[in-house]
Amino acid sequence: MTTTPPAPSAATGAAVKAADRAHVFHSWSAQGLIDPLPVAGAEGSYFWDYDGNRYLDFSSQLVNTNIGHQHPKVVAAVQEQAAKLCTIAPGFAVDVRSEAARLIAERTPGDLDKIFFTNGGAEAVENAVRMARLHTGRAKVLSAYRSYHGATAAAINLTGDPRRWPSDTASAGVVHFWGPFLYRSPFHAENEAQECERALAHLEATIAFEGPQSIAAIILETIPGTAGIMVPPPGYLAGVREICDRHGIVFILDEVMAGFGRTGHWFAADHFGVTPDLLTFAKGVNSGYVPLGGVAISAEIAATFETRPYPGGLTYSGHPLACASAVATLNAMAEERIVENAAEIGETVIGPALRAMAERHPSVGEVRGLGVFWALDLVRNKETREPLVPYNASGADNAPMAEFAAACKRGGLWPFVNMNRTHAVPACTITAAEAEKGLAILDTALETADAHTV
Ligand code: PMP
Repeated sequence: MTTTPPAPSAATGAAVKAADRAHVFHSWSAQGLIDPLPVAGAEGSYFWDYDGNRYLDFSSQLVNTNIGHQHPKVVAAVQEQAAKLCTIAPGFAVDVRSEAARLIAERTPGDLDKIFFTNGGAEAVENAVRMARLHTGRAKVLSAYRSYHGATAAAINLTGDPRRWPSDTASAGVVHFWGPFLYRSPFHAENEAQECERALAHLEATIAFEGPQSIAAIILETIPGTAGIMVPPPGYLAGVREICDRHGIVFILDEVMAGFGRTGHWFAADHFGVTPDLLTFAKGVNSGYVPLGGVAISAEIAATFETRPYPGGLTYSGHPLACASAVATLNAMAEERIVENAAEIGETVIGPALRAMAERHPSVGEVRGLGVFWALDLVRNKETREPLVPYNASGADNAPMAEFAAACKRGGLWPFVNMNRTHAVPACTITAAEAEKGLAILDTALETADAHTV
């Protein structure tokens, strides 16, 4: 039986919102202070509400719809798989799961050829850390300030942003260090080469003082995403790789946000020629059409669990619907040259336009990024680089960013905003015309930020 959906109208939108407020408990929110937009539908680079407002999605939701909304090949693959086999426990061999694993292994760098499936990014991080601890017999894990790794127990404690603070009591075994970030250099470096050298020396010192024999893993986002799309200087990741090798430490790269085309390569690690021991992924692997994440595992770590059991698993690991959507996504990305499109749009449209905005707008302190993965670091003062809003601002303190986001939305653009930054992170499928349209809206909205500069 098919039912005709109610015609989109403001009244339907209001009913959808009221139903949400009645029973849905939202992430990261004070439940009484939120006003979620009721969404009626989505396609390609757009989604829309019940009032007839269409938004150009410059956020890719939570930076996951790399293939855009409602890609017909992915929708069809999920429907076909649902008709064939909706669910089966992880212990069975299933065609669609094996094919998803093969396609992922084929795309990941080096010998990361075994795939452990999870339901998302945080579970991937949890399992990568577990594998590293079991492989090395060591306990500590080093992670960077200005990072995000997920909201489950180990992942939130590895996270290097304020979201960690409320659950900090469980952070035993986690040590934070500073990664490189020249614009706000923790090392007072004057150029990328110096930043790289000092960041590596700082990591070496951290390891020396923590005791290398106690450290199971170092986990880094290849390009820290939520924290500001901070592309590391040349040589940094290769330097970390070398340090890990020297001390027998497992190197985990978290590619949950940067992976699967976002940077204009299949993986951000490809830009740096570095292969980690474990690589965590989620989001872009199937654009989040069905929850999916996982860990790509090196031959050496996989060998640890060849005769000894891996003591971990999830009821929905390698879920058929999720795997079918991954197979269709990865095939469509190759057939339609979607990764190449991300690289080209970044290089020829988004990068040049954002750099021109940095020249014109007193509020744009720095532009960073590549592919469809760009950040504007907004400042009150270009000279001092004082952020437009204080670190972890809320309420009135955050008003300049809230005004900026509201201006984007009024213009028909859905922005990604975090602290004093906005990220231009549209789908990898975005066209040049759509990107130009979004950038023009962003350009106008930045005038609200300019008004707060001193
Ligand atoms: N790692 C990184 C780098 C992420 O960006 C995210 C999500 N933003 C996660 C892990 C957690 O993924 P999930 O929300 O799917 O658990």
